[in-house]
Formats: sequence, C-alpha cells, structure tokens
Amino acid sequence: MKALIIGGGIGGMSAAAALKQQGIECEIFEAVKEIKPVGAALSIWSNGVKCMNHLGMGSIMDELGGPMHNMAYHDGLTGSVMTQFSLSPLVDAVGERPCPVSRADLQSQMIDWWGRDKVQFGKRIEKVEQSDTGVTAYFTDGTSAVGDFMIAADGTHSVVRADVIGYQTERRYADYVNWNGLVEIDESIAPADQWTTFVGEGKRVSIMPIADDRFYFFFDVPLPKGLAEDRSTVIADLTGYFAGWADPVQKLIAAINPETTNRIEIHDIEPFDTLVKGNIALLGDAAHSTTPDIGQGGCSALEDAVVLGQCFADQFKEKGKTVSGVLAALKQYEEERRFRVKDLVLKARKRCDVTHGKDMQETQAWYDELRQETGENIIAGLRTTIIGGPLA
Ligand code: FAD
Repeated sequence: MKALIIGGGIGGMSAAAALKQQGIECEIFEAVKEIKPVGAALSIWSNGVKCMNHLGMGSIMDELGGPMHNMAYHDGLTGSVMTQFSLSPLVDAVGERPCPVSRADLQSQMIDWWGRDKVQFGKRIEKVEQSDTGVTAYFTDGTSAVGDFMIAADGTHSVVRADVIGYQTERRYADYVNWNGLVEIDESIAPADQWTTFVGEGKRVSIMPIADDRFYFFFDVPLPKGLAEDRSTVIADLTGYFAGWADPVQKLIAAINPETTNRIEIHDIEPFDTLVKGNIALLGDAAHSTTPDIGQGGCSALEDAVVLGQCFADQFKEKGKTVSGVLAALKQYEEERRFRVKDLVLKARKRCDVTHGKDMQETQAWYDELRQETGENIIAGLRTTIIGGPLA
C-alpha cells in the first residue's frame, strides 16, 4: 500500500506522518529544491499543537513554541491599552497551549523528522492520472511515480485541485497587504510573553514571541492589489502607513530588516465541498485556502492529517488494506472535514473584514468592544474554534 504525497509543506509532511502511523508507505514529492517559506512565523493554536503531539512531532512544538502567555490590544495611535488578559483560562479549558513558531524552523524540523533524504525535492507535479487501481503523478522533469492513492498537499496554487473538483478556482483578494518578519525581542516594543496587537484606521500591527528571543511581527494595511512596493521600499512604506502611530510601532518599524521582511497580498479561495475524487484527496491549502485572520490555515492542515489517519484506521479495520478500504477512508475523510474547513475559511473572512475596515462603522464598533473586553469573549471565541478540531 503506497501513497504519493504531493508537497512537502505542513500539510504534506503531517499527512505522511499520519499515514505512516497506519503502516502505509509514503513517497513525498516537493516541487522546489530548497523550501523558502512565504511567511516568517505561524501561530499554531492548541488544536494544531494537539495534532502535532498526536502525530509524534510534539517535541518540535516544545522546542520552537514561544512563551505566549498573555494577550493585549492597544490603540494604535495613542498606544493606550484597550484590553489585556492572561491566556491561562484558554489553556486550562482546552488542555494545550498555543505555540507561535518560526515557519522556516517548523517546516525544516518536520522534514528532518521524516528524513530529509527521503523527500524527493525538485519534483513538480504537472499532471495526474487515476484508474480504479491506482494513481500516476507526472512531473515537469519528465519522470513519473505510481501509487495506490494520492494526497495532494500542493498548496494554494494546487495543480491537482482542478482534477478533483472539476473546475479552476480563482483566488479572491482580501483587500489588504501583510508585511511580516522576525526581530530580536525588545520589551520597549511589547512584553516578551504576550501577543500584542495595535489597532486603528482598519490597520493592525501584531507582535508575538517565538523561541530564541525573537518576536514575530506583522503589519496589515488595507490597500489595492498590485502596488509597486517591495522589500526595497518597506521602511518608507510602513513609515508612511503608520505615521502618527504610537512609539512602540515606530520602534518596531525602525528595528525591522527589509531584506527578510515579506510583503504578501492576502487572498483566500471560495470554499468548495469536494475534497476527494476516487483515490485522490486534497489536503491543507490545496483543499481550503484561507486568509490568516484566525491563524488556522496551518492548524487545519494538521487537523486534516489527523483525521485522514483516523479514517484509514477505521476503514482498514473494517475492510483490510484493500482498494475499497482506501476509497472508503478517503470518502470518510471528505465527509469529516468539509464542513469544518469551510467554516474556518468563512470565519477568517468575516474576521478579516472587521479587522481591516471593510465597513469602518463595524470596525469602530469592534474597537469599542475591545475597550470593554475582559478577555472572556475573546477566549470563548478562540475556545470554540479550538474545540471544533478532531482532538477536542
Ligand atoms: P504550503 O505550505 O503552501 O505547502 C505546499 C507545498 O507544496 C510547498 O512546499 C510547495 O513548494 C509544494 N508544491 C506546490 N506546487 C507543487 C507541485 N506542483 N508539485 C509538487 N509540490 C508542489 N496558519 C496558521 O495555522 N497559523 C498562522 O498564524 C498562520 N499565519 C499565516 C500568515 C500568513 C501571512 C500566511 C500567508 C499564511 C498563514 N497561515 C497560518 C496559513 C499557513 O501558512 C498555511 O495554511 C499552511 O502553510 C498550509 O500548508 P500546506 O502544506 O497546505 O501548503
């Protein structure tokens, strides 16, 4: 029984780990020769951390997770605290902590955990063929590979997606640009154990601690698509967009290294119901591409992987390691995941619009709510998202 895994990102590596737990051989094919992640860091929320533990990779979280124990919102212009609270009630309620991690380190350690020499780099799938008994992947270098089934975790620009769902998807611009990167921790910008966010004018500036005394930062600004801005203009751009904002924001802009700061126009994809066609399944961003506004894209890829493994365990018990067992497992995976992933994409889209001033009156109402917030409502929202996962 062999699976072809397309993509060596969080989705592909976690799917391989989950299938290995069910005694399935996996061949992993990654398009690039060297992985260069698009973002500096990720918050892996408690649902994602539980998945990493379940897949046997919990030690990676222990090593990379930053000490994010508190949360605060500040008025971006005055710098005054709108709300500040401990995340302990959340951790107590869900039984696991959130871990903000360096994205490059996470991907690298997941690949090392699997065995770097066992991942086939430089293999970009361009075509897939499926039959009743298996799948064939064709790569741009002229080679091909055959397996019993395929997990396509080839990201938001997935090549395999159209084969599975029957049409080409369009990416939807979310109307804002995100700059992100890492800086050394500086407590005059924000406390070292807190997720701190400055908000105002439909913009935000966020700072989270990751391991090795580093802050992950990001800036969001609602902007039209396609502006002529890049790394060479990043300091001037941010200085302009955040003119008049509080001192810690100005300090952060002065501290960042433009060479390692990413500028990303944020997109998502309208959710769809089909995640599986016969012996091919979509997983991670290939299956559900979200804006990062609730920090659940990577977490839901990890959830996909855990559920995938559970479905194989169920179906192999009933049908044995057979073709019909594989088809039933993939169908069960689709059934168990499609509502959850659609919900997360739409939740993130809604949060995105409120955060980024799509309707400034609604955004102002949110700022007003933040000033009354004790932490209870925010924690309740985070808790609902987390316990909706497979390991609640
Ligand atoms: P990817 O990480 O995109 O990996 C896909 C892999 O497939 C890549 O390595 C790629 O090279 C490879 N590939 C592509 N095409 C082919 C091909 N044709 N053949 C073979 N291989 C191919 N998520 C969170 O959980 N928390 C966060 O805080 C968070 N913050 C984010 C912030 C930003 C700015 C962004 C953009 C995203 C954020 N996300 C976050 C989302 C998260 O990054 C993604 O959901 C996650 O990386 C998806 O993993 P994946 O493996 O499905 O896709």
